[in-house]
Amino acid sequence: MSKWNFNDIVKWGPGRHEPGATIPESGTADDYETGGWRTDRPVRDQEKCNDCMICFFACPDSSILVNNGKLAEIDLKHCKGCGICAQVCPRDAIEMVNEIEAEKEEEEK
Ligand code: SF4
Ligand code: SF4
Repeated sequence: MSKWNFNDIVKWGPGRHEPGATIPESGTADDYETGGWRTDRPVRDQEKCNDCMICFFACPDSSILVNNGKLAEIDLKHCKGCGICAQVCPRDAIEMVNEIEAEKEEEEK
């Protein structure tokens, strides 16, 4: 059973929306580091990647960063680890790696 009844949501004014459901202005997504939700992170193999940019178009979080028409890096502050980039890559150049193991490896470097 649903906690709230949304049947008349189109009639709701600002006072009835919970603060957590309020988007106060546009363009705020950049302020939230959704990368903290991730369980697996994409790691690109630069040897395999030919900068075709398919992953750039497929990423739902705009986390594939481009510079001069080439894949520059993956924005791990906003990448949620969905794995779509790894799925669509025609060269199998992106591997999804367990986040905790990847962090450990980074610390050891
Ligand atoms: S889809 Fe694969 S080959 Fe193409 S840019 Fe992304 S990582 Fe590189
Ligand atoms: S794992 Fe998902 S969110 Fe992260 S870069 Fe790949 S497609 Fe984008």
